[in-house]
Amino acid sequence: MRKKFVAGNWKMHGSFQKNAALLDSLKAQSENLACEVAVCVPYPYLAQVQALVEGSRIALGAQNLSEHASGAFTGEVSAAMLGEFACRYVLVGHSERRTIYGESDAVVAEKFAAALASGLVPVLCVGEKLDEREGGLTDQVVSRQMAAVLERVGVAAFAKAVVAYEPVWAIGTGMTASPAQAQDVHMAIRAQVAALDAGVASGLQILYGGSVKPQNAKELFSQADIDGGLIGGAALVADDFLAICQAAV
Ligand code: PEP
Repeated sequence: MRKKFVAGNWKMHGSFQKNAALLDSLKAQSENLACEVAVCVPYPYLAQVQALVEGSRIALGAQNLSEHASGAFTGEVSAAMLGEFACRYVLVGHSERRTIYGESDAVVAEKFAAALASGLVPVLCVGEKLDEREGGLTDQVVSRQMAAVLERVGVAAFAKAVVAYEPVWAIGTGMTASPAQAQDVHMAIRAQVAALDAGVASGLQILYGGSVKPQNAKELFSQADIDGGLIGGAALVADDFLAICQAAV
């Protein structure tokens, strides 16, 4: 039985004061949650949040990393640097990185490999845009994004990784994939991994992301292949994030 996992993606939000207040509320109520919990925070807040979550059940994550280990890459942050802040998770290939910053499948695969090489758990984000869904291309797009990483690192690497299916049209829009739509894609992702290694596939946590709210979390998380959520907007509101975590049992 896979354990449910809920990760918050704070995106480019926060301040020292807001982070402290949010974490205080989360810590106060997170002890009895049945699921794994993580918060993926902006780089400048890693040290603050590392200190705030220490000794709690909340794990720390980052939202991006460089594919390079070190060198003349101004503005970039390596996996080893994230490790120095006791980061456990790092988002890789979030749709905002792919669409706004032009990260290709090949770059995403290199970032995934860099995270693994430093002992971080990559959370690989995949998902189709609205025109791709409307054109019937969802499975093709998601399987291409998965294949790029599977070919680069091999299926065994997915024993130490998490996948997040995030339809781009559902992120931050209030439009959620229906539980059945999400389940179909999650099942296809698991089948793609199972074709290479059934054991890895059955242990792989596949999260759903895209306008998850306390109102829709329970039904989404009760689907057979949905193992929790990657939460954006609702991760910034302690009561909402906690309610979503409570739905992940
Ligand atoms: C996200 O940022 O990955 C996300 C899913 O955002 P939201 O929950 O706001 O749609």
